[in-house]
Amino acid sequence: MTEINVVANLNSVQQRLRKAERDAGRVDGCVALLAVSKTKPVSLIRQLAAAGQRAFGENYAQEAIDKAQQLADLQLEWHFIGPIQSNKTRGLAAHMDWVHSIDRLKIARRLNEQRTPAQPPLQVCLQVNVSGETNKSGVHPSQVTELAQEVAALPNLVLRGLMAIPDKASSSRQETGPFDELRALLETLRRDWSGSAPPLDTLSMGMSADLEAAVTAGSTLVRVGTDLFGAR
Ligand SMILES: *Cc1c(COP(=O)(O)O)cnc(C)c1O
Repeated sequence: MTEINVVANLNSVQQRLRKAERDAGRVDGCVALLAVSKTKPVSLIRQLAAAGQRAFGENYAQEAIDKAQQLADLQLEWHFIGPIQSNKTRGLAAHMDWVHSIDRLKIARRLNEQRTPAQPPLQVCLQVNVSGETNKSGVHPSQVTELAQEVAALPNLVLRGLMAIPDKASSSRQETGPFDELRALLETLRRDWSGSAPPLDTLSMGMSADLEAAVTAGSTLVRVGTDLFGAR
């Protein structure tokens, strides 16, 4: 088996991201890179951390909690991006910095209750089921405003924005439709907010295959696994 060079991959993904920002006429460095390390060993995470990568994403709850504990010495930023079951909220509240995949109030309330007062608030996004998505997770676009207002009222959570996982574009990786839809939803939330508004500064969208399209449409954070760590 050939050894994967995650540091070389990090450099090429960063270059790709900077080029996508320039091509889209956006400010250099405005899109953050989340390294999605699910199923990959902590040794590779350590290599990327040594090369300067701070933010890591996981989508299996127990794996996320275990890795955050094993790598606590590195002071990384941990993002949970997978489906959330009620019996996992305590561990996520204790060990994650961000949760991108909130799609119902019950889960948000549990995370809010289980976040200890000694910790900084948990940064969260709502996962939206944008059009054409076959994935069953995510709040329906018509329910985003209501859920956002309820989540923003929870004191131990900070509502940062929206996340989506559109199906892979069939024709080309430059398909921006679902990403445009998510951006429009965030703009609507900002415009119509009643009361004191949370930051709403995050559009978590774009993965290995479609990061250019996501950056064109306004992504502020791309979640890249395969192009950093290799196939799963
Ligand atoms: C696995 C995963 C990614 C990374 O996907 P790649 O195609 O490997 O870059 C991004 N977001 C979510 C929610 C994931 O589960």
